[in-house]
Amino acid sequence: MAVPLLDLRAQYATLREDIRRVMDEVCDAQAFILGSRVSDFEREVAAYCGVPAACGVSSGSDALLMCLMVAGIGPGDEVITTPYTFFATAGVIHRVGARPVFVDIDPVSYTLDPAHLEAAVTPRTRAIIPVHLYGQSADLDPILAVAQRHGLLVIEDAAQAIGAEYRGRRVGGFGEYGCLSFFPSKNLGGFGDAGMILTRDPARLDGLMKCRNHGMAPAYYHGMVGGNFRIDALQAAVLSVKLKHLDDWTARRQANAARYHELFAASPAAGLVGLPVTAPWATRHVQNQFVIRLPAARRQAVWDGLKAAEIGCNVYYPVPLHRQECFAALGYREGDFPESERAARETLALPIYPELTAAQQRTVVDAIAAILAG
Ligand SMILES: *Cc1c(COP(=O)(O)O)cnc(C)c1O
Repeated sequence: MAVPLLDLRAQYATLREDIRRVMDEVCDAQAFILGSRVSDFEREVAAYCGVPAACGVSSGSDALLMCLMVAGIGPGDEVITTPYTFFATAGVIHRVGARPVFVDIDPVSYTLDPAHLEAAVTPRTRAIIPVHLYGQSADLDPILAVAQRHGLLVIEDAAQAIGAEYRGRRVGGFGEYGCLSFFPSKNLGGFGDAGMILTRDPARLDGLMKCRNHGMAPAYYHGMVGGNFRIDALQAAVLSVKLKHLDDWTARRQANAARYHELFAASPAAGLVGLPVTAPWATRHVQNQFVIRLPAARRQAVWDGLKAAEIGCNVYYPVPLHRQECFAALGYREGDFPESERAARETLALPIYPELTAAQQRTVVDAIAAILAG
């Protein structure tokens, strides 16, 4: 039985009528830019995440970029994040002309290790971008404490973690800004690219709204240089329909994660496969990815074997960002961030999407056990 890493068609089949209806409404109105579809969706997501204000934008990457732009972060500034994340987290720092400064991850949660954070702060540091990776929050309290001591902005990269909770509260509202992505493979995925910036401080909303529309207010008067970072009304309409199902999908992802733990425990692969751990602070893990760990040589064998068996899996992320060619000028070396480097060599993501069946999960676990036995 072939098992895809992600099957978006299974989800669409359950919502086809509802989604086509709202898309028809947008088409009939021919109102594609901003408007009530967007403001309604912003209110819904803000309420879902427990923050007072939100700004819908063109992507998760643009959400991160805009936070740095409205903060006036640029040449001469440093922004701290981890090298074990999707490229956009650090790419946006470089794009505004600032310098990405990396801090290694905690090997259990794969999120920024606060123990190394304060040593990375310099007089040039302006902001910290903790990443809530794979669906669980970073350890925010110690990160916020360092930020407060040094007067730094905290921008949460919650692209993979909508609805995740840190010690009982939803992520995105701990820092000054929280960034969401609605890329199709995220837990709440659009029909293309879209994103959102959450903020616990409604006074920051005005700057964000201007920035996403070329810094323009009123029309054709530009107090700042922004960009076209608008979310499409069509995406907002589709995502509003899907948001109503997010809690159900999250519960299914959590059930699938629990089932993997049971299946691996009962399998001959038990003890050979490192299973993901939910950190004690991560009171609601939304399971965007289910990432196992294997010694590098075995990881390669399992990766190849699953591919041959038509079982979807992927490596997030094979090259830590400090080792990316485009960041060579930052001067980092192999060995600078050993936990990020080890995670890049040893991790493998398995299918976890909500519609995945128990039989499919058994196929995945049996295939891994067979590869490891062979
Ligand atoms: C997906 C993702 C982004 C970027 O979001 P896009 O909507 O694809 O631009 C940023 N950070 C992380 C951790 C992500 O997973």
